[in-house]
Amino acid sequence: MSVQDTNTASPLAPEWLAVPADLNALTPPMWAGSVQRNDAGSLAVGGIPVQELKEQFGTPLFVMDEADFRARARAFKDSFDAAFADICGGVDVYYAGKSFLCTAVVKWVEEEGLRLDTSSGGELAVAARAGIAGERVALHGNNKSDGELNRALDMRLGRIVVDSLSELVRVGDIAQARGEHAKVMLRLTPGVHAHTHEFIATAHEDQKFGLSMAADTTDQGLSAAEEAVAAAAAHPGIELLGLHCHIGSQIFEPDGFALAAEKLLRFLAAMQEKHLISMPELDLGGGYGIAYTPVDTPRPAAEIAEAMAAVVRSTCAELGIKSPRISIEPGRAIVGSTTFTLYEVGTLKTVRVDAPGTLNASDGGNNVTYPRRYVSVDGGMSDNARPVLYDADYSAILASRTSPAAPQLSRVVGKHCESGDIVVRDVYLPEDVAAGDLLAVPGTGAYCWALSSNYNYLARPGVVAVRDGSARLIVRGETEEDLLNRDMGA
Ligand SMILES: *Cc1c(COP(=O)(O)O)cnc(C)c1O
Repeated sequence: MSVQDTNTASPLAPEWLAVPADLNALTPPMWAGSVQRNDAGSLAVGGIPVQELKEQFGTPLFVMDEADFRARARAFKDSFDAAFADICGGVDVYYAGKSFLCTAVVKWVEEEGLRLDTSSGGELAVAARAGIAGERVALHGNNKSDGELNRALDMRLGRIVVDSLSELVRVGDIAQARGEHAKVMLRLTPGVHAHTHEFIATAHEDQKFGLSMAADTTDQGLSAAEEAVAAAAAHPGIELLGLHCHIGSQIFEPDGFALAAEKLLRFLAAMQEKHLISMPELDLGGGYGIAYTPVDTPRPAAEIAEAMAAVVRSTCAELGIKSPRISIEPGRAIVGSTTFTLYEVGTLKTVRVDAPGTLNASDGGNNVTYPRRYVSVDGGMSDNARPVLYDADYSAILASRTSPAAPQLSRVVGKHCESGDIVVRDVYLPEDVAAGDLLAVPGTGAYCWALSSNYNYLARPGVVAVRDGSARLIVRGETEEDLLNRDMGA
């Protein structure tokens, strides 16, 4: 039998996961600005210790640093404005509401000078409740209903991003019947797919979103994108603002964004010339990556902005066109790192596992096994579906105290009836983590609360915003009554 040495990596751990030099230290890019350990060793946000948050609001709980949200929103707006000032007078930044949306966040977005992206009638309802001007709101979606399109026109949205020719005709007809013009952008698929550390370029698109730019998509040998541009230009109910693309998510390198920008600018210039139209706007989507684990290295907004501006500047100069007004749509990169999830530890269990790739005893192996500790928390896949959905990696830290104990390879799991219910697949936690301790999982601001469910009739957690040293609920947690009140009875 061999036990893991205190400071050597467990053979069960993935290669990227190093044993932290200090288990109690916070790795900066994963945490919001005001999260620190206080003198008593407790994690605190805006000076409020996590025990206080637990006492007041319970666990699991999403804990958001409002100043950090505002700072990240401003960083995108300011750095893109600066990089594009001489190109198109600045950039419109649309916060992608699907990453996390409630009325408080809409207000912060508006106060920081950003706009709002929505992708359903329900998200439009939140925007309307928050009172943001329709002119500052965009609507996305590959299958918008007539009801959603009418709602968009009722709210006088600044843009409807159209995903298909049939939708273009539908929104044009609806607007014309109302005696209005719908302000439309066309979502194109430029054949650029960005992954975390690289991108691939393909001629054809095999996905549900957008109009293909491949030349031979239609019977006439046109691209679907060109067919839609011509139809939009001809439809009396449509005001064609320009083009849109969104190449993926959790992207670190700016190359993919730059290539997509270049492809869309070339197409925009060709269409303006051929169809004698003007398309004054170009939206380059979102997808900027954040740190979920200590090995993720997100780029500052300013660096991405500079790289994208350089390509837009040179491509427009080469084409001899005036640059359209540029817009972008970051979601995750604004809200993701503002928030951690606070959980209470319950059941603990340690298993012994053969190292990957080794023979086990019955195969004639030498029976060397290694410990993995399962740390169960009071939430799970219902408040963070990303590990299950995308194999996403997260990190975790003991939050209610510091510990001098040795690191132990751990797996943080939820309380659902599902063995795949993993919150953090691999993390080193102090050996003495015990029931009643609080754990914090950083980077849960985006696509966690938004994707939450009531699986096993768990109540969805509330979201607390901390600002100027005080904490308030911006979304309350569900109660048992919430869980039962749609059940109509026998
Ligand atoms: C999801 C989405 C975004 C935001 O993506 P992030 O990865 O959160 O930045 C932006 N635009 C569109 C069209 C999207 O679907």
